[in-house]
Amino acid sequence: MNRFSKKSALVFFLVAMATFLVSRPNNHEQEREEGKQFLDMTYPFDETSIYWPTAKPFMLTKVAWGKSEAGWWYASNEFSASEHGGTHADAPIHFAENGRTIDQIPLEEWMGPAVKINVTRRCAGNRDYLLSVEDIEAWEKEYGKIPLDAWVIMYTGIGTAYYPDRKKVLGTDKTSQEALPELSFPGFSQRAVEFLLRERDIRGIAIDTPSIDPGNSKDFRAHRILMAADKLALENIANLDKLPEAGATLFVIPMLIKNGTGAPARVFAILP
Ligand SMILES: [Zn+2]
Repeated sequence: MNRFSKKSALVFFLVAMATFLVSRPNNHEQEREEGKQFLDMTYPFDETSIYWPTAKPFMLTKVAWGKSEAGWWYASNEFSASEHGGTHADAPIHFAENGRTIDQIPLEEWMGPAVKINVTRRCAGNRDYLLSVEDIEAWEKEYGKIPLDAWVIMYTGIGTAYYPDRKKVLGTDKTSQEALPELSFPGFSQRAVEFLLRERDIRGIAIDTPSIDPGNSKDFRAHRILMAADKLALENIANLDKLPEAGATLFVIPMLIKNGTGAPARVFAILP
């Protein structure tokens, strides 16, 4: 081997090594690849978060935010809010006397297959649309029977498109009692909830509006029937347009409030 070919061999080796090192995914890249499979379905909590018009909204107060006298940084906030606002979970006690509180529900019960029933077109034509048994059956015709321990999600499109615009999501931007007669958004029909409880085995139901009952409900039947059956609910969940109709797994991490009737929750899905 002459000097020239030795040099060429060395250059070839270095180029090959460099190519190998650059093209080989390192651990960080692998993590990022896996990260693409997660879908965050939570709205951030801030002063615009949607709460029931009569409930205390989310408030964040800066207690400290700056350099201390000694020169180091220190930041700390206080927050307060109703349990039922923003992206949150409802425990059975919310509408069922002696029902379980948030802290009595084991972690595994917050996970399950995500069933997304898309009724966005119907809700666009009627803000007070009620999810029907027929809507559930139409989903099953396409994707098969609702799997065991599923979260059945009503995709109204209303919250997904407009949150946190109160007027467009709630139907009114008034607060306190005077807002209540003007509330207008879709929800689950009594028959649909009864069907899911009697004919299927679910974890709970979820929706991209502030309530599983429609805005114009006066008797909260969906809540009452669901929670009498010891099941769970999620409200104001985000990014439903990015969740597939079937095949994802939903995870809910509610704040562990002792005796909580509900709690702010981090909701996410692992996509198929
Ligand atoms: Zn609630």
